[in-house]
Amino acid sequence: MPAPEQGLILAAHPPAAGTLTGRIELRLDNNAVGSVTDTCCPACRTAVLDYVHVAAEHRRLGYGRALIAAARARMPGYTWTAPLPDGGTAQAFRTRIPYPRAAPPCVHRAARTDH
Ligand SMILES: [Zn+2]
Repeated sequence: MPAPEQGLILAAHPPAAGTLTGRIELRLDNNAVGSVTDTCCPACRTAVLDYVHVAAEHRRLGYGRALIAAARARMPGYTWTAPLPDGGTAQAFRTRIPYPRAAPPCVHRAARTDH
C-alpha cells in the first residue's frame, strides 16, 4: 500500500508545447484546494496572472498568495500584471495583490493564438 501523501504540495504544470499558459495546483493531503494560471511571454519576459482559485473552505489561509508566489518564483525576472477578474470575491482578493492591472499590449501574444 502506498504511503499517504500528506501536507501541502505545489504541483506545477508548465505550458504545453505551443501554448503560453501554465498552471500550478495546490494540494492538501492529495486533494486539490487551489490553483493559479498565468500566461507568459518569454520574449518580453512578461507574465499575466490569469486566474487564482482557492476552494471556499480554504480561503483566508494565505493559499492564494502562496500560489502567486510560486508562479512568480518559476519565472524570475518577469514583469507581472494582474488584470481585475470578474466576480466580487475574486476582485476583492485581486485588489490586495500589488501588481499593475494592465501593461502595453505584447506583440507576440497578439500575433499568436493559443489552442
Ligand atoms: Zn511579447
